[in-house]
Amino acid sequence: MKKKYKKKPETQKLFVPVPKKDDGDEKSSSSSKPTNNQNSQQKPKPNAKQSSNTKSNTPNLHLATKEQLLAELEKRQDEERDDEVEGEDIEEEDSLEDNASRWIRGSFPEKVIIIGGGPAGMASAIYAARAGLSPMIIAPAMGGQLQGKGVDVENYPGLHNFTGPAVIASMRSQAATFGAVFEDDFVTKIDASSRPLKVFGNSTGVIEAHSIIVATGADSKWLGIPGEFELRGGGVSSCATCDGFLFSGRHVVVIGGGDTAMEDALVLARTSKKVTMIHRRDSFRASKVLADRVKNHPLIEIQWNTVLEKIEGKPISTPDNDSNDDDDADEMDLDDVSATATDTTEKIVSAAVLKDVVTGEIRTLSCDAVFVAIGHSPNTGFLDGVVEFHSDHPGYVQTIGTSTKTSVPGIYAAGDVSDAVYRQAITSAGSGAAAALDAERFLSEEGLGNEEAEMEAELLRELASEMNDASNQSDMGYNAYEDAGGRVHGVKESLGAEL
Ligand code: NAP
Repeated sequence: MKKKYKKKPETQKLFVPVPKKDDGDEKSSSSSKPTNNQNSQQKPKPNAKQSSNTKSNTPNLHLATKEQLLAELEKRQDEERDDEVEGEDIEEEDSLEDNASRWIRGSFPEKVIIIGGGPAGMASAIYAARAGLSPMIIAPAMGGQLQGKGVDVENYPGLHNFTGPAVIASMRSQAATFGAVFEDDFVTKIDASSRPLKVFGNSTGVIEAHSIIVATGADSKWLGIPGEFELRGGGVSSCATCDGFLFSGRHVVVIGGGDTAMEDALVLARTSKKVTMIHRRDSFRASKVLADRVKNHPLIEIQWNTVLEKIEGKPISTPDNDSNDDDDADEMDLDDVSATATDTTEKIVSAAVLKDVVTGEIRTLSCDAVFVAIGHSPNTGFLDGVVEFHSDHPGYVQTIGTSTKTSVPGIYAAGDVSDAVYRQAITSAGSGAAAALDAERFLSEEGLGNEEAEMEAELLRELASEMNDASNQSDMGYNAYEDAGGRVHGVKESLGAEL
């Protein structure tokens, strides 16, 4: 028994070192109250915190007076209350951060509404926010070419080793820092027949604005053939500039006969082993200079009168389905085909099934990637009948000169919606910044968005109304465009006449 009681429990080492009692004490202690009840003799020792408290400033409550007990009780209640308040403060701070960049409907029209959350929209937002315009951005939370890009963005200066979503998230938080506010919605219509302009959000309803920046981007056109959707990110791409480098030293296929297809083929020929162009007709529609370069390039082969029927894939070992843990999760080994892979295993492009449209012959071409370059569709359907479109590039918004101005004063276009040529994240961001500068100049020149002036005029109107001197006043409330002297063009005729 003595041997047993001398053995300390393991928790003992966590305690503040206590001078060890000599064996004699221990013996006398354990032997002074001999009993058969082991539990009563092996009382659990206090934990370290309690132990140190007892030693320092916590009174010995067994010996405390009633006053000391009450003081201790009060002190503990105070500590509990402080802890609760601290917890609430932290929760409140978190939710404030979440809510800070959410749009809240106000009493006045928005100074500027930016439609679209890609690089063009975010650059507009940062510039407009820094100009004190408190821009409102309407865009679906998920969407946009960059947002859907799983691989790294390698061609945006200063942003190396970032994925598309990471770049967008960073731009978004930068805009929010300067006061931009966001609404997760998509726009169905714009009404520019009267001022303020009206933006119709699918779930938000009508929002009035003095100016609008359209930055809704363009979506790549796809063929809609088997394997195309399934193998996106596994060798099927619509952006040679973005993804071509991943297939250095490989055989790649390009579909299309326009300028984009030519440029893609030429870009890919710089790094790929071989480029095969597949075109459905016997001549290119691309500009002669580009077409000639493609035709004369030693690494580019053209298959005329041919269409792509199907893209085939082969399973690949990736860090997720490979038992060998690989540190670099982004890397795929294009040669490492897993023999045991199942249907759910990730796949990469292995071949293109082609059809000769003249002879009907079907053939299979081994390849490592397929770049679909059959054009883009700008997301401008909601602008039908509102702004003018480009005569040479159907669906693209026509901008005036080198500016981002559209045919409607106060409406600006930035990024791929008005750029059928460059369509890069960096060029979109540049035009987004320009659009914010154009919008800011418009608001300043027209004297719009001055909420103090609008508030003052509203009060004056109410006073005048009370003095029964408002017989000629409409009950529409204050109209900032009266203050602007009717200089804003594109105002609805009836309103123009009033002005
Ligand atoms: P695009 O000129 O419309 O050419 C699309 C190509 O894809 C055409 O050759 C078309 O074949 C083919 N195509 C369309 N649908 C297809 C399908 N379902 N199956 C197979 N092939 C299909 O588009 P883009 O090349 O993207 O050019 C768009 C505009 O941007 C053009 O005006 C172009 O000049 C301009 N751009 C200019 C530059 C530059 O100047 N550096 C660079 C890029 C783009 P068909 O020929 O048989 O119709």
